[in-house]
Amino acid sequence: MPHKDPVTPEIRYAVIKRDHTCVGAKIGMGGACGSQFGSGQGIIWELDHVDNAGLGKRGPSTMENLVLLCGYHHRVKTESTRTWRPKLREYLDEKSKYAVPG
Ligand SMILES: [Zn+2]
Repeated sequence: MPHKDPVTPEIRYAVIKRDHTCVGAKIGMGGACGSQFGSGQGIIWELDHVDNAGLGKRGPSTMENLVLLCGYHHRVKTESTRTWRPKLREYLDEKSKYAVPG
């Protein structure tokens, strides 16, 4: 069953609206956002599933499990998941405290 739990345009929009920008710098990741592009132009925003359901599987596509990252910081997170996942989880927990239902 492919795309059982897709990131809908609505969720994508809501996450971008909440985070505004890549959260990598906010949680202390090094390096400049989008730095793989050098000039900082053409940053590709990616939604990252913070918690995965299991090996090779992603977690639910919800506001509480998605963060906005640039391509560079997304790669940093993926390469050091054990370091950054707890930080992203903290960030999301903090955000969800103030989340307005609906
Ligand atoms: Zn970034």
